[in-house]
Amino acid sequence: MKFYRTIEIKSNILSKTTCDICGKDTNEKEIITLIDRVEDWHDHSESYKVTRETYDFCGKCYKEKLKEFLNILGAKATVISETDD
Ligand SMILES: [Zn+2]
Repeated sequence: MKFYRTIEIKSNILSKTTCDICGKDTNEKEIITLIDRVEDWHDHSESYKVTRETYDFCGKCYKEKLKEFLNILGAKATVISETDD
């Protein structure tokens, strides 16, 4: 026979996202997230560490600030078009 008991499980859920430039709450459809993934291999062992840094931007800051800055640096976007046909 199995006996069960009820336990409380706590979990972190995303409650809101704010823009990392202006600080305003940003809805999920508008948010632009950049993820930088860095792998760090340790020379004398087989272990490694993966670090992820994320940046979240509202559409306005992305278009008016970040994209402008990237253009000044000479960055060229990869453009992929999609249709809903
Ligand atoms: Zn913003």
